[in-house]
Amino acid sequence: MSRFFSRRFDALTPYTPGEQPRERKFVKLNTNESPYPPSPMALRLARQAAGDLQLYPDPECTALRQEAAARFGLKPSQILFVNGSDDALNLAFMAFCDETRPARFPDVTYGFYKVYAALHGVPYEEVPLREDFSVDPADYKGAGRNVFLANPNAPTGMALPLAEVEEIVASNPDNVVLIDEAYVDFGAESAVSLIDKYENLLVVQTSSKSRSLAGGRLGWALGNEALITDLNTLKYSSNPYCINRMSMAAGLGSFADEEYFRWCCGEIVKTREKSKEALRALGFEMTPSQANFLFVRHPRVPGAALYAALREKGVLVRHFDAPRLSDYNRITVGSPEEMETLIEALKEILK
Ligand SMILES: *Cc1c(COP(=O)(O)O)cnc(C)c1O
Repeated sequence: MSRFFSRRFDALTPYTPGEQPRERKFVKLNTNESPYPPSPMALRLARQAAGDLQLYPDPECTALRQEAAARFGLKPSQILFVNGSDDALNLAFMAFCDETRPARFPDVTYGFYKVYAALHGVPYEEVPLREDFSVDPADYKGAGRNVFLANPNAPTGMALPLAEVEEIVASNPDNVVLIDEAYVDFGAESAVSLIDKYENLLVVQTSSKSRSLAGGRLGWALGNEALITDLNTLKYSSNPYCINRMSMAAGLGSFADEEYFRWCCGEIVKTREKSKEALRALGFEMTPSQANFLFVRHPRVPGAALYAALREKGVLVRHFDAPRLSDYNRITVGSPEEMETLIEALKEILK
């Protein structure tokens, strides 16, 4: 830390991203990226857009918002595109939380929520998940606080049904309920259908997982026009050109190529279900994941040891050191071939 660093951030512990190794080729199952390339249409449009990089991009993302609005059955004014959904979460914490508007989220969830809360000086409560890692909806009904829920949750992959999400939103009319749907396309129910009914609901999604665009950094928030206006005020007060031309074009291609998107999600769901069976046959226990990852533990092998043994064999997964999580590893659902490699490596390790 330099002697110039603002005292406001003295105590800040930044988020730790998953490893992005360069030194060695791994079977990379650690950061929930898609095993499939972006849609051919997304790539074609991105290449075209590269020819205009001397020009600033459209800060309003007009064409992209129109395309997305049509897909979601919303108005363009109900959508904000930003630089990855992390950017949307950051703006939401900044826009809707402060000392008098605290936040509540589960103790086991996406690690960035508490980083953003700390960054913006927002008091927060971490509510323990149930013993089986499920979210107890009762903990969030009538919370009297802004609520942040990943649905499906990370790193468990477990999802709340839409009816429970609706009760949480309906019972907190004076607070914002943010539903982070980074993994919703792999089988859970989206809350987008509730947006016209509740002015306090903000849904956040990303192109990073189900749309194979993690490297493009494109995320979005969906909600009531007034909420989106607030987020825009902050976007235009910090970084209005936060989406580059190529990512904007790739996003447009991804939304336009609905068929490829559906195909990728379907393949990943099939591979996930097969992988669940193969892992169970090896004695693994796991949460009922509806995401593109599995959260698994083996009764005979500690989580950290399994992580290290897999790494040794060139397979990278994610291990979390937190008390309730350290028995587990989170394994991204890769291609069928990658999962085959994982299973073979696990068989050798368990011998
Ligand atoms: C991956 C992830 C994000 C961030 O996604 P980006 O759009 O790549 O910033 C947000 N929330 C959850 C729960 C995630 O797993």
